[in-house]
Amino acid sequence: MTTATGRTPHPDREPEVLRRFAEARLWAAAQAPYLASAVFALRPVVLEARSDEHTGEPVPDPEFRALPTDTRWRVHLDPGTLLTTPVEETGWWLLHHIGHLVRRHAARGPNQGAGRRTGGTGGADEEAAHRWNQAADAEVNDDLESAGLTTPEGVVSPRALGLPEGRLAEEYVSLIEVLDTAHRRGGRRLVDLVDCGPAVRGLDGRYEETGAGEGIDDTERHVLELALARDIERRAAARTAVPGGWRRWAEDRRRPVVDWRTRLGAVLRRGVRRTAGRVDFSYRRPSRRPGPGGVLLPTMVAPAPGIALVIDTSGSVAAPVLAGFLSEITGVLARAAGPERRLRAICCDDRAHPVQEVREAADIELTGGGGTDLRAGIAAALALRPRPDLVLVLTDGHTPWPERRPPVPVVVGLVAAHPPPADAPTPPAWAHPIPLPATAPRGAEA
Ligand SMILES: [Zn+2]
Repeated sequence: MTTATGRTPHPDREPEVLRRFAEARLWAAAQAPYLASAVFALRPVVLEARSDEHTGEPVPDPEFRALPTDTRWRVHLDPGTLLTTPVEETGWWLLHHIGHLVRRHAARGPNQGAGRRTGGTGGADEEAAHRWNQAADAEVNDDLESAGLTTPEGVVSPRALGLPEGRLAEEYVSLIEVLDTAHRRGGRRLVDLVDCGPAVRGLDGRYEETGAGEGIDDTERHVLELALARDIERRAAARTAVPGGWRRWAEDRRRPVVDWRTRLGAVLRRGVRRTAGRVDFSYRRPSRRPGPGGVLLPTMVAPAPGIALVIDTSGSVAAPVLAGFLSEITGVLARAAGPERRLRAICCDDRAHPVQEVREAADIELTGGGGTDLRAGIAAALALRPRPDLVLVLTDGHTPWPERRPPVPVVVGLVAAHPPPADAPTPPAWAHPIPLPATAPRGAEA
């Protein structure tokens, strides 16, 4: 069926569209008061309407269902969509886009630097853009769902799809790919093809000419994000309900130091590259594309390096803290060493426990509880066949260390208070220490 529609300006309907937008904005601010300043910073841009040829009435264009947003915080409003969508759903999309914007999904996505692209041309680029959009939606909707907001029909819902909570889009990509492939074998798509616009998909020629309203610039965005983060922290400190995902975002945004994930990822990449001699993860290029907390993305695929994880389970590092790091380490490893990495883990107290081969670090069973001698664990890791390219040790550092430099790089994730106490142990010179916050990281809360 072809619909007889064309695009026409509807100046008389514009006030109505803007009124609906204003109502949706109020609704959104009431649902998530901690995001109010961001909600009111969004700039509406009313597009020409797609109209029914006979009645002249605006009809919704499915392509604009998500109110595509760009990185200048401009929300593109299709009159037909605005006038037929419940205010609550429009408001939901506004909160959704704030999630994309402040988490810098455009800069983290695969289309960064790809240049102008026209929408809907198909092909691998388009497929990658769709996939990234879905993964970014999962990251954003996870927070909205934990705030009690219902995801609209057909849009990625981490809860409905049984996806794990609290992950980054980079981690959701592969999870969604698996689910989607299975669904498509059954002849249907996992979710609708939703286009959230350049704020998620990166450079895109489609919205550059919309002109109306300049949107906010980089400086304004920076000020806005800091104000938002401060507001969230104030509310959280006053015990006002703010979802965990937003509290973590605010903390990451406000903390000037480089995130431990970034440093760990960078050191892993460097170590793996040096050992393998065959890998170039292009350490320089990804620094242009920091994610939240500065997570770096690899730009090349390389032979999967073997990484062995030695975990100090002597009990001096609290189990929830360890579990918290483990739940994040899979993502860091995937970005540093590629999705095909092998992950072997050895729990170690005063002796090395049997090796566990897992796909996700979070699946490691933490065994131990005795004294501490990580020399046993490191020796066991080096004795693995094939020998790992790199050993990653998670510990608080209260352990004897091997006297000689091991034959492969050893990266030490050092769980320590910030700032470290004066008597804090220091790993030997051959180790690559990465300070990890002693407070439970993302994913460690109940
Ligand atoms: Zn989205």
